[in-house]
Amino acid sequence: MNCLSVTTAHGRTVTPPQSGDERLAAITARLAEAGRPPSTLTTTDADRLAEIAAQLLPVFGAGDGILTAAAQLNDLLVRHKAVPNLHGHPGRPPVLAFHRADASLVDAWAADVGTALAMVIGVGQSVRLGACQAGNCSLVFFDTTRNASRRFCDLSCQNRAKASAYRARRRAGGL
Ligand SMILES: [Zn+2]
Repeated sequence: MNCLSVTTAHGRTVTPPQSGDERLAAITARLAEAGRPPSTLTTTDADRLAEIAAQLLPVFGAGDGILTAAAQLNDLLVRHKAVPNLHGHPGRPPVLAFHRADASLVDAWAADVGTALAMVIGVGQSVRLGACQAGNCSLVFFDTTRNASRRFCDLSCQNRAKASAYRARRRAGGL
C-alpha cells in the first residue's frame, strides 16, 4: 500500500510508480522481500492494485472520519465480491479466504486485504490503523504497541518530529 500510492515519506516528496511496469516492479520487489514467490500479475493488474491501494488508504489514521472510511471500505468489498470461502487443498485442512476460489488475483487481493482491515475496524481497533504524524510523511502502518500509542512510521520520523517540535518551542521562547 505504502509503495504504490504514498506521495510523501520521511519528510520528502516521493513519486509513486507511474506506469504499469513500474508498479509491477514495485509489487514484485515487495513480494521478494516478504519471501513470497513472484506472482503472475500483469502490468494492468498492477495498475488496478495501485488504484485499490489508494482506495484502502483512508481507513488508516481516519480518526473521526472512520464511519466515512468504513462506508467506502464496504463499497470496495462489494465491488471486489468479498465472501468467506474455505479453500480446499488435497491432503491439507481447508484454509479460510475471503474471495471465491475462481476470483481474479486483483479481486482476491482487494477482498482479502479489505476484509482484514474491516475485521480490525469491526472489533473496535481502528486506532491501530495508523498514519505517520510527522510532517511530510503519509506512510501508514499497523500499530502493534500494547496501548496503541504509535504515532510515527519509524524512528527516523519520530526523531525528525521531536527535533522540529524542539525547534518550534525554542522559537517560541519556551527554552
Ligand atoms: Zn513517517
